[in-house]
Amino acid sequence: VKEDYDLIVIGSGCAGLTCAIQARELGVKPVILEKMATFGGNSMRASSGMNASETIVQLKHGIVEDWHDFYEETYKGGGKLNDPELLEYFASHGALAIDWLAAHGIVLDDLTITGGMSRMRTHRPKSLAPIGAFLVNNLMKRAKELEIPVVCGVKAERLLTDEKGAVCGVKTARRNVYAKAVVLATGGFSASKDLIAKYRPDLKAYRTTNHAGATGDGIKLAEEVGAEVVQMDLVQVHPTVQQDTDHAYLIGEAVRGEGAVLVDGNGKRFVNELSTRRIVSDAITALKEKSAYLVFDSQVKKRVKAVDFYQKQGLVVEARTLEELAKKLNVKENDLKQTLEKWNQAVEKKQDSEFGRKTGMERELNQAPYYAIHIAPAIHYTMGGLHIDKQTHVLDKSGNVISGLFACGEVCGGLHGNNRIGGNSISETIIFGRQAGMRAAAESKNK
Ligand code: ADP
Repeated sequence: VKEDYDLIVIGSGCAGLTCAIQARELGVKPVILEKMATFGGNSMRASSGMNASETIVQLKHGIVEDWHDFYEETYKGGGKLNDPELLEYFASHGALAIDWLAAHGIVLDDLTITGGMSRMRTHRPKSLAPIGAFLVNNLMKRAKELEIPVVCGVKAERLLTDEKGAVCGVKTARRNVYAKAVVLATGGFSASKDLIAKYRPDLKAYRTTNHAGATGDGIKLAEEVGAEVVQMDLVQVHPTVQQDTDHAYLIGEAVRGEGAVLVDGNGKRFVNELSTRRIVSDAITALKEKSAYLVFDSQVKKRVKAVDFYQKQGLVVEARTLEELAKKLNVKENDLKQTLEKWNQAVEKKQDSEFGRKTGMERELNQAPYYAIHIAPAIHYTMGGLHIDKQTHVLDKSGNVISGLFACGEVCGGLHGNNRIGGNSISETIIFGRQAGMRAAAESKNK
């Protein structure tokens, strides 16, 4: 690490990488500091896809819509607690972000759906590979081409300010690094025992799907220079997490989006599986066994490549017949069979009279082998964080911009309200990562 750069980006997830690339393409020289030994952060684990509206990809699939619908569904899904200014920027810039990625050779031309959405907006690569690693690796490639240094194993310990209070650098263990602007792209705090205990003591016992680095550092760094935090108590619990081993594996929403159902300990459905994460999590927690099985067939498996990965980790129960599956899960054979029969009829009629599910009903569950994954809710995402404006400036408690300080990605609060929709966090990183890169570049050029 040198002593000064035009721009310091803290964090090498999708937000930080996108920001640095965008800024570099505008002519400024950024460095990315990453505290962990490897790059990619929690973005590496994202599985579903990237939501966006009015995209060319949607048109190719015959989906014509207005981004205001995307806005409204995200707003409703977030309990109408979303910051309208951020949400409007977000909902109206998805197509641009998809195009920007495509212009960088990063093509997301397959579509799926996630809970709370009425149409297919979740963009993913044709290979159906999990979105996170796909994006991080491709963005890293571009960062290398642009000669952006991504320095791992360097933690930002404090923000440095000049005599006017403007942020002008970062203290690391080895040295102070100076820049015209600093971007916080440090991710959320799902893995911070302290912050979870402080803001959501009721969730203390829950495990998390997040990587160990998700400890909310950016929030603490910014608070020390006067930043305001918003909605810190809004923490998302993800409904489908396999946690019977040391590691809590998130089972992506795409499995349900492509047709899986959830059954309880009796082999019966109990919820619209594609309601929002909040509703599905609450329904599972209300069950006697506080866990459930995600059940699907070989057709669904084919549509979600991540299932191969889950299988390699030993998380998937496989059976040649439904009888065998019932036996392996220790649920009543007749109940499970009846559940699937009823479900297949609902798919055929496109009407789920029991639970009102309307999406993820493209295919019946009738192609052996059958599969099940044991799941329960775990801490997944922190909706709260730094208060930013739509230009990604970090704001202080009086609503004034903290000069020289920007933030993007999960470290920010307000966009998602009380429930982040699956597929919206990746779009947030690209949309606001670009925005932070553009704004920080423009403003540091004037310095
Ligand atoms: P986002 O999805 O918002 O991009 P990620 O979790 O993918 O968030 O990426 C955030 C990255 O920031 C992680 O790789 C994390 O290790 C890194 N990070 C967090 N705190 C610091 C810090 N104090 N110094 C350097 N890197 C940090």
